[in-house]
Amino acid sequence: MNKDDIEKGLMACVHCGFCLQACPTYRETGDESDSPRGRLVLMRGIFEGNLPMVGDSSEPGGAGYHLDRCLGCRACETACPSGVPYGHLLEAVRERQEQAVHRPVGERMLRDGLLGTLTNPGRMALALRGGKLTGGKIPVPVARFLGLPADTAMPLPANLSEASRPVPAVTPARGEKRGRVALLAGCVMRVLFAPVHHATARVLAANGVEVVCPREQGCCGALHGHQGEGDDARDLARRTVAAFEKGNYDAVIVNSAGCGSFMKEYGHLLKDDPEWAARARTFSAKVKDVSEYLHALGPRPMPAAVNARVTYHDACHLAHGQKITSAPRALLKTIPGVTFVELPDADQCCGSAGVYNFLQPDMARALQRKKVANLLATGAQIVATGNPGCLAWIQQGLPEGAEAPEIAHPVELLDRAYVVGAG
Ligand code: SF4
Ligand code: SF4
Repeated sequence: MNKDDIEKGLMACVHCGFCLQACPTYRETGDESDSPRGRLVLMRGIFEGNLPMVGDSSEPGGAGYHLDRCLGCRACETACPSGVPYGHLLEAVRERQEQAVHRPVGERMLRDGLLGTLTNPGRMALALRGGKLTGGKIPVPVARFLGLPADTAMPLPANLSEASRPVPAVTPARGEKRGRVALLAGCVMRVLFAPVHHATARVLAANGVEVVCPREQGCCGALHGHQGEGDDARDLARRTVAAFEKGNYDAVIVNSAGCGSFMKEYGHLLKDDPEWAARARTFSAKVKDVSEYLHALGPRPMPAAVNARVTYHDACHLAHGQKITSAPRALLKTIPGVTFVELPDADQCCGSAGVYNFLQPDMARALQRKKVANLLATGAQIVATGNPGCLAWIQQGLPEGAEAPEIAHPVELLDRAYVVGAG
């Protein structure tokens, strides 16, 4: 974001306060500095040079402390009548923050370890394999090596090799062909949620869409961008554009809300790069969330039923980042046998927010508890949500036992209705 864009974005705020009750951190603490309006005032002071960029997560009261506590959920953008581009401003100020603030060594290692592990499928697989031997926790030496907390819990698939089996390079369309798309395999999704990728490919194929999964792709850069690591994020964005622009695809399909939201904004991220700006805009225009694409295409009738009471949690970067709320609900309601029930405060962040749950565990846990209480009150047997962070974090907060609801990506439920036929 250049200087003019930052100034224009900050000036758009008229301090009306309509965003306050949409903000999970403000609702939790009641502190104006933990609200969007308060944080915009802090950003303005920093960018205009009137407020020193001091403080980090360990220094209460400083600007950095309250900026670190922001989830980046962008619920404030949805609530704002003035069109303040809060998400872009947050990324810009965090980039400034990472350059100006010297974080304590432990925190720096934790941040670097998280980004280096979660966005690197090889390291991630190593951490998970270690976790299989230690009852679902990443082993202490590996956690230390990777810069992760010693008691880091990960949702471990029962069969890791099977769970991380790569999606075929090409999945042919079934029946009359209606499209040809590329699928983002990404980083976290590829290792931890590969079954969601397989379900995505099968559901699209069942709807007459050929699915190509380019092998040379990698991390999209979203986690880096959200943490203020702008140079790394731009570098990963360029690589992603290069990996996907070679094929002649109708769309680039993403089943991770955080990645899709970031990739749709590559045009903005690279707008000041003369070599990449136009290529990034062309690429971003093709990025579609899987629910958005399928809903627009019109799903074919499903032969099997999923007989369950189902509710839906809006991933922040789908609801607020991409403004997609009706397509996933409409698809879920189309599945034979599904009784859909709305979730109170469905679009309030669950506390996951990328690596926020590692860096701000107290706030993240408080939001997780609220989310789980609302989920349980619906009596749903299945909770659907379209982002890996939400899937993992909500799963960790759910009670154990036979009565606990299952958590699934919406496309996995569609897959059962098309292919598996569980009911
Ligand atoms: S709703 Fe928009 S204009 Fe009003 S205080 Fe919040 S960010 Fe500023
Ligand atoms: S991004 Fe989310 S947590 Fe941050 S100020 Fe906006 S609503 Fe609050």
